[in-house]
Amino acid sequence: MVPPSIDRFVGCILGQAVGDALGFPVEGWPAEQTATTVTPFPDHFTPHPCGLFPPGQYTDDTQMMRAILTSLVERGRVDPEDIAARFVPLWRDGEIVGRGGATTAAVLRLMAGISWRESGTPAPQAGNGSAMRTAPLGLWLYDDPTALAQAAADVSRITHTDPRCLAGAVAISAAVAYAVSHNTIDASPFIGFVAGLARPYHAGFAALIEHLPRWLETDESAAVQEIRRAGLPPGQRPDWPGISPFVIPTVLVCLYAFLRTPANYCEAVGFVIAQGGDVDTTGAITGAISGAFNGIEAVPESLARAVTDRCRYGYDELRALAERLWQLEHPSQ
Ligand SMILES: [Mg+2]
Repeated sequence: MVPPSIDRFVGCILGQAVGDALGFPVEGWPAEQTATTVTPFPDHFTPHPCGLFPPGQYTDDTQMMRAILTSLVERGRVDPEDIAARFVPLWRDGEIVGRGGATTAAVLRLMAGISWRESGTPAPQAGNGSAMRTAPLGLWLYDDPTALAQAAADVSRITHTDPRCLAGAVAISAAVAYAVSHNTIDASPFIGFVAGLARPYHAGFAALIEHLPRWLETDESAAVQEIRRAGLPPGQRPDWPGISPFVIPTVLVCLYAFLRTPANYCEAVGFVIAQGGDVDTTGAITGAISGAFNGIEAVPESLARAVTDRCRYGYDELRALAERLWQLEHPSQ
């Protein structure tokens, strides 16, 4: 383990925003269509076809990640009650972009006065809405795996209480924690760390994470087809083109994309968006992990500087939040 640099904190946060904003205009499209938008990897954003958003608009994944990041910076600790309170204005003020059903139901319960401990949407709802936002917890608690897993599970419970959602949120925060604090990535110890933290929440999900080295050694398209169906009952087909918002294939394909080319941000994010489906989320998660490992210099500057949330909370604001989090952890530097 090495002390994370400030550039890796910034790379994680802006890496997520860039992956999210690249995927947003083609969310839900099949692989054949999403692949053309990242081949070659673009140096500018295309606007969403609905015409309502500026190019570079990111979505709920990064909006909710930003709420967690802001809470950590302002509270100086993981405070699920404060994080839950920061989710509410995104809905109340109509700011949330591409909202998920389970998350919306949970936030409506928060708005009705229900505690964060009781607000989460229960099983069998098992979308990726909590895994997509936990990257800042991996930055904050990279050197305390026990506290990290507890924090990621608690922050998941605000909206998603299915054990698979808890395991997915823990897995992504663990992947960020490992990526930001290591100078080399070998699949075996990386997966051991991620699966080890996820296992107490859902052993079956952890076993699928441990299968990743074998998927990495097999034919790529066959591996992705298996990942698309991972965690579904035998015979059930995914109900989305590409990667669905079900948390198990989402987490697996993002870890796969990162491990396929750990040292190359554009290749990892381009690959995962080219698989189609819920690509704002898969782009966001892969971008966060790869950005944490490779640092902000690996994220194309023309894209990083163009991310936006309706002309607010762009490059400068996200960079400042990431730097403040790093400075909180390194008060003497
Ligand atoms: Mg989204």
